[in-house]
Parts: sequence; structure tokens; C-alpha cells
Amino acid sequence: MPLLAYTHLGEPLIAPLMTDPEWECLRSARHRDAWMPHGKGRAIPKVSRLGTRFFAHPPGQASGGAKESNLHLYLKAQSLVGARAAGWDALPEQSGTTPDGQDWRADVLCRRHGKPWTVAVEAQVQLQGEEAYRQRQERYAASGIRALWLVAHEPAALHRYWLKPDPYLPAFKTTIEKDPKGWPEAQVHIDGLSLSIPEFVTGALSGQLHWYGNGRHGIVTLMLREDQCWHRTCRKRVLLAYRAETPQRKPIDIETIQAMQGYGDAYAKAQAALPDLADSPWPLRKVLASRCAHCRREIRYHSHDWDGQDVIYVPIGIDIGEQGHRLGLTPHAQWHWGPETRWPHWAPLGGIGLISHCYREVRPRRLGPKTS
Ligand SMILES: [Zn+2]
Repeated sequence: MPLLAYTHLGEPLIAPLMTDPEWECLRSARHRDAWMPHGKGRAIPKVSRLGTRFFAHPPGQASGGAKESNLHLYLKAQSLVGARAAGWDALPEQSGTTPDGQDWRADVLCRRHGKPWTVAVEAQVQLQGEEAYRQRQERYAASGIRALWLVAHEPAALHRYWLKPDPYLPAFKTTIEKDPKGWPEAQVHIDGLSLSIPEFVTGALSGQLHWYGNGRHGIVTLMLREDQCWHRTCRKRVLLAYRAETPQRKPIDIETIQAMQGYGDAYAKAQAALPDLADSPWPLRKVLASRCAHCRREIRYHSHDWDGQDVIYVPIGIDIGEQGHRLGLTPHAQWHWGPETRWPHWAPLGGIGLISHCYREVRPRRLGPKTS
């Protein structure tokens, strides 16, 4: 079920990109000038159950390949719409060969006007394991093409990749739901966003998709809570850094991360953004101590959670170095979308990221000596 046919002069007819009048004109033409690729006869314009326009082979001349799913057809059509909106040329169902003779066939192949084909969009509906993704990606790379993958099958098949993505395989979870009328609505999930396929493809072709990871730069999140300065003459609101967490939400000692490059600068930036933020704490026997941002006097506090409090999360960017690796910190490595200032759970090295607030309910801890 291809999306592509040609006129007898070789002009491509891309079913999902034709205007309604063009499409109707083609449907009603008596001597229709639309031909299946590779000399497979006249093309018959049709609409799939999911509302996608495509071309069918004349009866009895269906191609031998496996019958393509309506869903795959829909995803390809949506990708074409996105590429066109980005101002790129795009053609569905294009085949090619690597310099060493290996074949590939792209769902949608894209190029800037007048330039060679450089980007393939692959809508993967059939279950495919990571090895197969890598192999196909290598074939594209050998042909000078970067492929973007819409992973529309059960994502668990790429379980390892989701835990540890890399720049060599741009693959994105894609889910399909139905709108109230029963039409499919596909969404690509990236960097905390859910984008329609045209939005995603347009953005990816327009410089919105970024890989970030340099092997040293890691992110930890400082957790702050609100308190009041102890001193009677001050009594001002203060924010106290009481914990730090890895991106996997494992607690990590504030003392440990204080020793890492970038922490001091990042903390200073957090203080500039949050004027009530007390100094970076130091351990004092079993508690933490800091200085009030207003009166500079010492404040002592516990490092555990309090029940039902507002927590402020400040991602900070540090150089994790060897010490961080030993502690199990991993460098940041992830696909992001749009400008750095919107990336969630990220911060520049020696800087802070997006500050967020959360009401945290935890079970109250019993203070004082344990009784068994
Ligand atoms: Zn004070």
C-alpha cells in the first residue's frame, strides 16, 4: 500500500500531500495519469480505514510484499506532512544501497531543496530488537543518511536503549491513541513532551532535536525546604538545602557533591535565583549547618524529609569526574528538545536548570532513640 505514484512524466504524486481538489481530480479522472512505481500498472487512489490516502495496485497486480498495516501507512503519511511543513523535500518508500552493496528502504526520505538525501524517518510498527535497529542505522550511516526512528511497537523491545540512550540511534517512543471519532492520534515522547508526528518531524528537521552528553557532565538535584531563621531578631524565610539526589532519585551526600567541580558556581547561581537560599551546608555532628541568607547567623537542621512539606528542586550541573563515577553517578546523556532553557532535569555545567516545586508527603519519622 504505497503512498507514492508517478505521472507518466515521472512527477511524484505523494498521496498524503495532495490537496483535496488534486486528490478528487485524480480519483475522478477517466484516463488517470498515476502509475505505480516500477512499472506495476495504473495506480488507484484509495483511503485506508484510518483515513490515510494511498495508491493501490490494480486488481490482480498486488505486490508480493507483506501487506502493510494501516497504522504504518498513517505514520508514514504523518511524517511526510511534517517534513513538508519544515520546508524539506520528502518522498515515501525510497530504496537505496550502501557503498558495499547492502540494501535499505526508507519509509520517508528527506532532503533540503537541491541537496542530497540526508534524513530518513522510519516508523517502526513491527517489533524490532535493538540489534536490528543498529544494523539498519549503520546501513543508512554508510549511505550518508541519518535515520530517526519512531518506535511504535512495544517499547520493552528497546528496554536497554531507553535506560542508556546514545547519539548513534535517535529512537523515540511513539504511542497511538484514538480521538473521539476513532481516528488515530500518534504522539512522540521526547524530553517530557508529547508531540504529534508532524510537529516532531518538523522540529527535528529544523534544529529542535539535540543530543547532550560529554562523558563528564552530570546532573544532581538539590532539594530545598522552607524554614524560618531561628534568630528572634531575624525570623525571615530561609530555604535550606537538605538533600541531594541523583537523576535515578538515589540520595547522595551534599558533602560529596560539594567537592565536585561546578558545584560552587551552581550554588551561587541558585542563591542569585532564590535570594532566601541559605549557604551551602556543612555537616555538624549529626545535623547540617548553614548561614541565614539575611542575618548570616548559623542555622542547624536535619537532612531528612519532613512530612507534607513543599520541596523545591534545583538541578545543578557538575563535573562528576572519577569520584562521581565511583559513587555510581553517571554522566548526563540524553536527547533533548528545543532550547536548553526548557530541558527538564538538566543544568549547564556550573549552573542551574529549571527550578520546580513539589508537595512531598512522607511518613513522619520518629525522632529520638529507637524502641524495638
Ligand atoms: Zn536570619
